[in-house]
Amino acid sequence: MKFVSTRGKSPAVSFSAAIMQGLAPDGGLYVPESFPKIPQEAFDGVESLPDVANVLLRPFVEGDAIAAQIPEITRDAFNFPAPLAQASTDGRLSILELFHGPTAAFKDFGARFLAACMARLRTDASRPLNILVATSGDTGGAVAAAFHRRPGVVVSVLFPKGLVSPTQEQQLTCWGDNVHSFRVAGTFDDCQRLVKEAFLDPTLKSRFELSSANSINLGRLLPQAVYYAATSLAVWREQGRPASYIIPSGNLGNSMACLWARALGLPIGRIVLAHNANRTVPDFLKTGVWEPRPSVPTLASAMDVGTPSNMERMRSMFPDIRDLREAVSAMSVSDDQIRHRIAEGFRLGGGIWCPHTATAVDAYVRLTTEERHDQHWVIVSTAHAAKFREIVEPLIGQQIEIPESLAKLFSRPASAVDLQPELAALIGALEKTASKI
Ligand SMILES: *Cc1c(COP(=O)(O)O)cnc(C)c1O
Repeated sequence: MKFVSTRGKSPAVSFSAAIMQGLAPDGGLYVPESFPKIPQEAFDGVESLPDVANVLLRPFVEGDAIAAQIPEITRDAFNFPAPLAQASTDGRLSILELFHGPTAAFKDFGARFLAACMARLRTDASRPLNILVATSGDTGGAVAAAFHRRPGVVVSVLFPKGLVSPTQEQQLTCWGDNVHSFRVAGTFDDCQRLVKEAFLDPTLKSRFELSSANSINLGRLLPQAVYYAATSLAVWREQGRPASYIIPSGNLGNSMACLWARALGLPIGRIVLAHNANRTVPDFLKTGVWEPRPSVPTLASAMDVGTPSNMERMRSMFPDIRDLREAVSAMSVSDDQIRHRIAEGFRLGGGIWCPHTATAVDAYVRLTTEERHDQHWVIVSTAHAAKFREIVEPLIGQQIEIPESLAKLFSRPASAVDLQPELAALIGALEKTASKI
C-alpha cells in the first residue's frame, strides 16, 4: 500500500516514509491510496486492541520495512483499554471511554503509536531524533508521555507561559529525562512559529535530526481507527447491528479515523461530529461554502479550532458535498449547553463528563426519538473529567476522583526552562540539552 498527498503533487510513499515525513512535500496530508475491504471473518476470534490493530493495519503496512515489527509496536502502543460502558438500561447507548491512557485523553493512542513507530524507524542511529512540539495543552502532554525514556529520542515541548491551566502545565513539565519543557514568553502562535522556523533553519537541520509529532501525521491518525474497529465489532457480535458514533471534534483527526474504519468495511452506521462554538464544519455542511475563521475560546478548549486541518482529508475522500453530507452530520454546541449537559450528567447513567464529552452528549440528546431508536449509539468520551476539574467540579457540586494515571503525573516534580520567543534562543537551548547527552 502506498500513501498519496491530498494535493496530488507529491510522489506516493510507503507507510514508514509517510510517518517520518509528517506533511507531504506539496503541503498536503497523506491518505491511503485505497481502502481495501477487510472481510469480517478476518476478525474472527480477534478481540484485544493490539490484535484488532494487527488485522486492521495489515493492508497498510504490506511491503513496508516495518511490517514485521507491527505486532510488537501495537503491543507497545495499545497497552491500555478502550472500554465500551453501557449508558442506558435498554442497551441502545454506550460510552466509549478513550481516557485510560497515561495522560487521560484519546491523544494517548495516536501519540503512543507514533512514538513506537518512530523509535524503530530512526534513519540515523548515531545521533538522537529531536522531536519538537508546540502545544496549547493536551497534545504536548500526550506526546511527552509517549516518548518519555525512549532511547535515542529527545523531545522538546514548547508552551506559552501563563496561557495553559495549572493542571495542563503539570502534564507538560513533569517528565524530565529525555523530555525538555520550554515555557515560552509569548502565545501559542509564537511557539508554533518557533517550531516552523526551526525546521527551516539550515544549521539546525545539519546539526540535529529533527521531526515533529504533529496531529496531521498519519502515524497519529491511523491507530485511532483501531478503537472504532474493536468496538463496532463488539456491538455487531452482541446485537447484530452497526454502531453509530457521536464524536467530539476539533481538528477532525478522531472522526477521520472513524470514517476510515467504516471505509474498510467495519460495521459502522452514522457518524455525527459534535463541535463546540467553533462552527466552521457544521456551517460548511449546511451552506456548502468552506469558510475557515479564527478560533474562539470555549470550555471544550481542545476543540477550539477554526480551520480544521483534517477537512482536507475529508474532502479528498468526498469531493462532492452531497456525498460528504451523506457520510457525516455535524452539530455545534455552545458553552451554555456544555455547562447544562455537565450539570445534568447524572441523569444519563450518572456520568461525570469532561466539557468535550459533554458536547457529544448534547448532540445525542438532540437526535430525534426515531434516530435514537434506529441505531446503537456510541458517545465518544475523549478525556477524563478530572483533567478539567476546574470547570466540571463547580457544575456538579462535588469533587472528582482523580484516576491513577493523572495522580501519578501530579506527584512528579515539575521543571521547565524559560525561553524568549526567538529562534536563536531555541537553538541555544537545543545545543545545551544536546551537550548533556
Ligand atoms: C484533541 C481533542 C479533541 C478533538 O479531537 P480532533 O481529532 O482534533 O477532532 C476532543 N477532545 C479532547 C479531549 C481532545 O484532546
